[in-house]
Amino acid sequence: MPTRGIQAIRGMNDILPDQIYLWEFFEQVVRDWMAAYGYRNIRMPIVEQTDLFVRSIGAVTDIVEKEMYTFLDHLNGDSLTLRPEGTASCVRAALEHNLLYAGPQRLYYSGPMFRHERPQKGRYRQFHQVGAEALGYTGPDIDAELIVMCAELWKRLGISGVRLEIGTLGNTESRAVHRARLIQYLERHLGDLDEDASRRLHSNPLRILDSKNAAMKEIIDGAPRLLDDLDEDSLAHFERLQQILRIQGMNFEINPRLVRGLDYYNRTVFEWTTDKLGAQGTVCAGGRYDGLVEQIGGKAAPACGFALGVERVLALMVENASEIPCPVPDAYVIHQGEAAHDLAWKMARQLRDEGLKAVLHCGEGSFKAQMRKADASGARFAIIIGDDEAQAGEISIKPLREAAEQVRAGLMEAADLLKKNLRELEPENS
Ligand code: ATP
Ligand code: MG
Repeated sequence: MPTRGIQAIRGMNDILPDQIYLWEFFEQVVRDWMAAYGYRNIRMPIVEQTDLFVRSIGAVTDIVEKEMYTFLDHLNGDSLTLRPEGTASCVRAALEHNLLYAGPQRLYYSGPMFRHERPQKGRYRQFHQVGAEALGYTGPDIDAELIVMCAELWKRLGISGVRLEIGTLGNTESRAVHRARLIQYLERHLGDLDEDASRRLHSNPLRILDSKNAAMKEIIDGAPRLLDDLDEDSLAHFERLQQILRIQGMNFEINPRLVRGLDYYNRTVFEWTTDKLGAQGTVCAGGRYDGLVEQIGGKAAPACGFALGVERVLALMVENASEIPCPVPDAYVIHQGEAAHDLAWKMARQLRDEGLKAVLHCGEGSFKAQMRKADASGARFAIIIGDDEAQAGEISIKPLREAAEQVRAGLMEAADLLKKNLRELEPENS
């Protein structure tokens, strides 16, 4: 019976070698960028107790209600969840290891997140985020730092056309006042609410403003604004944040309707969006979550952070035709005959010892076939070793990317010659 090929799970992508250089370039830029601002990397497990996410993200949110990969560990009956986001895990880890005893912490993480959504361009079931979390800082200076950092990343990645929107959610009390006003307003429009909104009317009315249902737009546009119910401290915090951003030369819009899809946010919220990616236009989102540390079981501590969607940022890099260096081998070593074979191994090893990237031809093949492989590898040079060369204990160097003569060299000179030629090929080093 023919077996059907097993395929990857819908919405979960393989990242193939032809795309990986883009990812690796991005990852390197991220490492340098985070280090430049003093954020240290932390790595958490991909699976956590389900409760962690329910308690932090909120039971009445899209993520917890319909997007989480939750399953029973059949070996011990625990309810586990593939992490849908990183903030809760990061805070959990910081508390579990008492990181905050040493003072405030600037942390960052990156890796896969899991949400059971309808897969489409820019929306996947396994996707990747890079997130920064500043734990123990009151702000608004750190809020501004996190925002300014993002702008710096866009610059380092060669991305343009991302807009910044900021807003504020106020404190718990002002949100309670707002909530009551909002419920009153929505109750007057009961007939126009969709199913999700009707269900959340009393459990999480703020979330209704985050609805993506176009039919709800008019009601949402007419709803009371949280900005009008803000407490004085939150207002001052928000004013100071804007002031720092302006001094730092940042362009931004104030969006009074910015509600994030997670319950733990208060005060500052922000999003970076673009028109260049169609419907999935939010590339980065974050804000302040002063209550979360205590909620997860730690001593109360203020905090602020953001998470960016890696797939969307990479798509923007492609869209912007950012210049991304594609790594290729320096040399492809081709050879024929027993003596040449041994010399080829020696040559390849010596090139690598000298810090060069060398691919050694493996398997049979005529010189012509091997040359085709060398060309397809993208290598800058072919190193050719035939009977002639083997007898003389030499090699031939053939440039593959420029019109230049093939030259003969001794084994010991080869690496130096290649390096010299590679330097000449490198535009920025010339
Ligand atoms: P959206 O409104 O697009 O559903 P969100 O508010 O659910 O996003 P967050 O939880 O704030 O997203 O996650 C931060 C970022 O992670 C988003 O701005 C986006 O770039 C990215 N992201 C979120 N969900 C997905 C997904 N399913 N696939 C790819 N990227 C995603
Ligand atoms: Mg979402």
